[in-house]
Amino acid sequence: MKYYSLNNKNHTVSFQEAVINGLSPDKGLYFPSKISELPKTFFENIENTSNEEIAFEVIKPFIKDEIPEKELKQIIKETISFDFPLNKVENNIYSLELFHGPTMAFKDVGARFMSRCLAYFNKNKDQKNIVLVATSGDTGGAVANGFLGVKGVEVIILYPSKKVSDIQERQLTTLGQNITALEVEGNFDDCQDMVKKAFLDEELRHQNLTSANSINIARWLPQMFYFFFAYKALKKFNKSLITSCPSGNFGNICAGILAKKLGLPIHHFVATTNANDTIPRFLTNGVYEPKPSIATISNAMDVGNPSNFVRIQEMYNNDLSEFKKDFSSYTFTDEDTLEVMKNIYNQYNYIAEPHGAVGYLGLKKELKNHPEAIGFFLETAHPVKFIDIVESTLNINLQIPEQIKNVLSKEKKSIKIKNYDHLKTIILTK
Ligand SMILES: *Cc1c(COP(=O)(O)O)cnc(C)c1O
Repeated sequence: MKYYSLNNKNHTVSFQEAVINGLSPDKGLYFPSKISELPKTFFENIENTSNEEIAFEVIKPFIKDEIPEKELKQIIKETISFDFPLNKVENNIYSLELFHGPTMAFKDVGARFMSRCLAYFNKNKDQKNIVLVATSGDTGGAVANGFLGVKGVEVIILYPSKKVSDIQERQLTTLGQNITALEVEGNFDDCQDMVKKAFLDEELRHQNLTSANSINIARWLPQMFYFFFAYKALKKFNKSLITSCPSGNFGNICAGILAKKLGLPIHHFVATTNANDTIPRFLTNGVYEPKPSIATISNAMDVGNPSNFVRIQEMYNNDLSEFKKDFSSYTFTDEDTLEVMKNIYNQYNYIAEPHGAVGYLGLKKELKNHPEAIGFFLETAHPVKFIDIVESTLNINLQIPEQIKNVLSKEKKSIKIKNYDHLKTIILTK
């Protein structure tokens, strides 16, 4: 499969090159040159197909023979070695729980898949890749965990000092080995700026830098899997399906829409945002006007200029009216979020953390337009990852799962950095 740059369709690369480059040299996101529907029989038999087989059939056309069947099956097996339960919250509303992986956020799926693809490509080579990533919270832990011990890969994670939660910080600073955590005195944008500068730095050109954020196709594509798993579980009701994704960089929802292009019968998509409402505003007035990000309680979605949105536009040939038939986008405040967290808990005894709660809000709103449909929202993180806000809002004590207990007992190791030159020195010593 070839991938083209969204800045220049004539610039195409292989799957391997797209994974290693992350972003095209012309700064465009990569996009698959061909999207074909899966055979009807695949959907007819889906309830009798294992998750691993489903994932294999879904991803195979995007990789072809660049990874042989046996190795690809092994990569998939390791990527999705945990549950993706669909939990009934109330009549016709389900929570698709994507937080049962090692770092308890959905980003585990993409990070584990990408790390194993890189490991495969490095298998018989002496080459080394440096994965450089800035995180506002969950990406760091998922990438650190997913890439731990992967041959030929050094991981450097930049995070804003004192601006991530204790659990998130420990998930990215306690692993050691090939993972280096850099603590930046500044905010997430400062981290992101340094990473961007490194990618443009001529003197680092030979360091094989790559990124592991959601623009990398090897993180984006496997996120299709769980929409298929949800369909497998809900197909028996024979009703039209609506999904709502709590959205930040729009990677998750973009994968869901790609799944629809492969023939997955999801009738309507809702991208629900917090106060960072660039896309809801765009759908209302047709003007794309990004703004600096605003801090909210669903902080993994604090994105003012969602990078994956261009991929969604590409899937609809930039035709806004076609796009709106399949897609809605709504924005909610922190007050709405806190209130609905309490309602969901008091009425249905379900604990939603702030991101999932935002997803639920968007789903409830859209279901008013489709009273006959069944809806599911993505619960993108375990409540314990936002323990302070969940405990104080719901007035409960959460049990700490084993995965989290393990990191809480380990010692934090980070290097404090103040400026870009310091980062550069560290990259050059890897
Ligand atoms: C990253 C993240 C999101 C946003 O996902 P996108 O794919 O960037 O839209 C939502 N919730 C949680 C918990 C996350 O970590």
